[in-house]
Amino acid sequence: MSASEPDDIDRLEQAIIQELTRRRSRPWTVHWLVRMAGRLGTGVALGLLVPLINGCVLPRSFKEVRNPRGGAALNRHVCLVYSQRYQINLGGFEKLHPFDINKYGKIYLQLLTDGLIRSEAVYVPDEISREDLLRAHSAAYIERLRQPEAVARYLEAGFASVLPAWVADASILTPFRYATGGTLLAARLALQHGIAINLGGGYHHAEPDRGGGFCIYADMPIAVRTLQAEGLIRRALVVDLDVHQGNGTARCVAADDDVFAFDMHEEDIYPTPKAKNDIDVPLQAGTGDEAYLGLLRKNLPDVFDRAKPHIVFFQAGADVLDGDPLAHLRLTPQGVVERDRTVIDEAVRRKVPIVMVLGGGYSKDAWRVQYDSIRRTIEQYGLENAAGRPYPRRPTIKERIYTK
Ligand SMILES: [Zn+2]
Repeated sequence: MSASEPDDIDRLEQAIIQELTRRRSRPWTVHWLVRMAGRLGTGVALGLLVPLINGCVLPRSFKEVRNPRGGAALNRHVCLVYSQRYQINLGGFEKLHPFDINKYGKIYLQLLTDGLIRSEAVYVPDEISREDLLRAHSAAYIERLRQPEAVARYLEAGFASVLPAWVADASILTPFRYATGGTLLAARLALQHGIAINLGGGYHHAEPDRGGGFCIYADMPIAVRTLQAEGLIRRALVVDLDVHQGNGTARCVAADDDVFAFDMHEEDIYPTPKAKNDIDVPLQAGTGDEAYLGLLRKNLPDVFDRAKPHIVFFQAGADVLDGDPLAHLRLTPQGVVERDRTVIDEAVRRKVPIVMVLGGGYSKDAWRVQYDSIRRTIEQYGLENAAGRPYPRRPTIKERIYTK
């Protein structure tokens, strides 16, 4: 190798660097643009004007995706949310409670055996997290739930106060946390598919700092806050048609102007005193189908107009039924199904995702009325996640005993 070779390489390198520097220093795009502008003249002027106009007048398709909202659900199919873990099991003692503890299981089994769903079609929720619980409840309240006496008081179930704390947590609070997780999952699914039904939930007497009336966790406010925190929605509407006023929900969302609460309830029963919702419709004992549905149809359009919701939570308690042991309205089973249809169809017509939760209903046949309503909804809108419908069959003896 000769000594001159490194010099040659240096020179070559310098030449390359010079060429690169020269090219970069010439902004050829500007030259090209100026040349084009000279040739086109008026074309360029128009070219500048069009983006200006475009910037001011938005096409409709883009206006529709301007304001924050949940993604619109296009197929309007029904998603069913349920978990076996909703079942409260205290070795039979749970049957001492006026609440038909197996209501959810009965509805699920009937849907299954009537061939309306397959178990694979059901969305199964996870337990709600502590972080999500704290979106609606105080840490002090969550701590207080470690005392079985407190749980017994909120559930109006004296027998629960004698349980060891871990048994109360595992057999009572855990099912409530799964059902609360179910309402959150149903809300997420409603945003995707249009309609979601949680075969549980609707714990509308749970307040930020206390439970009551069989309710521990405020599932609807928790779901609203979680979706808001994730930026999936801003405004929510709660339509609470359980016969009891949703005093807990009302107190949880009172400070949130983005949540609109509409509540029709019997006036002279639990809870007292009543809380204040955006619209309360108090009803007298003995109110029947015609008066009830008349009031609902009169109020509902106004409620939707004022709330402008990104999602609706429908507490569809069946304790409005004639003969309910805890209330005195006189709706027929057909009246309750019609009530649910009215709310769901209004949401669908307005393209607002809707979450239905089951709430109260304490008469022997309350579960069947809620089943009829869910069946009607599935038959009208179709089931999401349904890969072919199974044949109807009779429940097995084991299934019957489990849901008795
Ligand atoms: Zn109720």
